[in-house]
Amino acid sequence: MLVVMRHDATAEQVESVARVIEDMGYQPRPIPGAQRTAVGVVGNDGRVDAARLGALPGVREIVHITKPYRQVSREWKSDDSVIALPGGVVIGGRDLVVIAGPCSVESKDQILEVAQAVRECGAAVLRGGAFKPRSSPYSFQGLGQAGLDLLAEAREHTGLAVITEAMDPESVSAVQECADIIQVGSRNMQNFSLLKKVGRASKPTMLKRGLAATVTEWLLSAEYLVSEGNHQVMLCERGIRGFDGTTRNLFDVTAIPATQSLSHLPVIADPSHGTGRRDLVPAMARAATAAGAHGLMIEVHPDPERARSDGDQTLSIPEFATLMQEIRAIAEALGRGIATPVRQAVG
Ligand code: PEP
Ligand code: MN
Repeated sequence: MLVVMRHDATAEQVESVARVIEDMGYQPRPIPGAQRTAVGVVGNDGRVDAARLGALPGVREIVHITKPYRQVSREWKSDDSVIALPGGVVIGGRDLVVIAGPCSVESKDQILEVAQAVRECGAAVLRGGAFKPRSSPYSFQGLGQAGLDLLAEAREHTGLAVITEAMDPESVSAVQECADIIQVGSRNMQNFSLLKKVGRASKPTMLKRGLAATVTEWLLSAEYLVSEGNHQVMLCERGIRGFDGTTRNLFDVTAIPATQSLSHLPVIADPSHGTGRRDLVPAMARAATAAGAHGLMIEVHPDPERARSDGDQTLSIPEFATLMQEIRAIAEALGRGIATPVRQAVG
């Protein structure tokens, strides 16, 4: 890190920056220039509080030489991270992992029907929200623990791994108990107490990109999880807020390869929330596959018109079946396959 001083910074100001750097446990290296002085921070282990230095008198800017996130970066680990799920599915490898299911778990019949159907179509992971983050307090909030129990039952019946959201630090232990993957939702991407709690859980975790988060902020949130000891982290691009109401969000396809070049973590794409429109989900799912996403998350419901949340962006089972054929063809054209669980269904 370099602390660049203003051109009119005094020798005392440079001196006091150097003293603060020493105070922080690093060595200051003043580099005098013709116009201005910069002070290098040597011994920087990635935990320097840049804001403390940036606020000192005479400082013009802080220049990061390495990325502000460390352990999730490619510089830290050049090989792709691979996450093995119970049931034999691997996320982050050659094969594309398809996560599918309803926005919310609504009933036993609904979740068992959709689980069976998506498994037959080639999905490897069942999704379904039990604790739902809804914009309105009057909207369906999820079945809570009963929803988790139904997901566990659906796993028993199909052999699919299960992903569901932990909405707050209080729900982490119940979700961790049931899920094979803990989801941290978009609205919680910067809920740091939740991230710390999930970071101490020894469960694969999927971190969705915040509604208006930059890729750097997203990776810094992933760093919270990893720095607490959870190394089984995957990211999920789910669209960001745009100015145009044509779609619910702007699905950022570019962020998929861009993030993969910055980080070794797997990147999943969620075109359902990314577009908010059932008619656009297949095109964006195909695009994300072609862009190299490690997996897709697709909302599917036996009767989308009657879904208790996100029906507008949810595919019917026949629509999902068609999409899976297209996805498979694209994956195969790129030398990839669709990951399938080896775990057998029991019923
Ligand atoms: C979801 O996956 O159902 C969800 C609420 O997603 P997001 O956090 O991306 O809005
Ligand atoms: Mn949803």
